Amino acid sequence: MIEIKSKREIELMKEACRITALVHKELEKAIKPGITTLELDMLAESIIRKNGGIPAQKGYPSEEKGVKNFPATICASVNDEVIHGIPSRKVVLKDGDIISIDFVTCKDGYNGDAARTHIVGKASEEDKKLIEVTKQAFFEGIKFAKPGYRIGDISFAIQQYVEKNGFSVVKEFQGHGIGRLMHEDPGIPNYGKPGKGPKIEAGMTLAIEPMVIAGKPDVWELDDGWTIASQDGTKAAHYENTVLITEKEAKVLTLY
Ligand code: MG
Repeated sequence: MIEIKSKREIELMKEACRITALVHKELEKAIKPGITTLELDMLAESIIRKNGGIPAQKGYPSEEKGVKNFPATICASVNDEVIHGIPSRKVVLKDGDIISIDFVTCKDGYNGDAARTHIVGKASEEDKKLIEVTKQAFFEGIKFAKPGYRIGDISFAIQQYVEKNGFSVVKEFQGHGIGRLMHEDPGIPNYGKPGKGPKIEAGMTLAIEPMVIAGKPDVWELDDGWTIASQDGTKAAHYENTVLITEKEAKVLTLY
């Protein structure tokens, strides 16, 4: 069931999203060669808690048996890792890396979800293009995130834009509704057909999140049971915001 949020719920969503955006801004400043992904994780958690929020992903259960709950505040996915990378003191960022950071803040029972990919130090032109195309794919998608369209219109726009630029969308993972739960209906794939899927209505809150690989679309899971990486070893980027559907347009709640 797709929930339509009340005015009060939308105000609570906005506050959770504000904190998420603020943390992303601070993380962007902190990312540089020599910092570990565990340090970034600790920074994110401290800012979330200072603002009265809770890191919603920490302790998130795996769907697989025998895999420990997600242990951290942020997902930190480096280079060929697409999503769900576990922060570690062993992962030291170096010049030329790219890092995707994805996390959810919960405040007063409502969630705000966003992801960004950043360059560490100096990036290649190819990596810059990958990150830019992934971001722009989100904005291409939300042109259709308004009443009168369906979820498939968003999916199609994202896929078309990414593939036109010579990259691949990940098909195994998708965007989602968000609110009291981190993951609500509907699922929002990054590929699809126009005119298909649920109707979009004012009052929906959606996390739309292109996940893009420079090479082939295939992914696999690493031995930690969480990290998803490209099979061909090429780099990946991720760009996500929580948006509110209004009568006229999609309002992005997690921008700073
Ligand atoms: Mg996310």
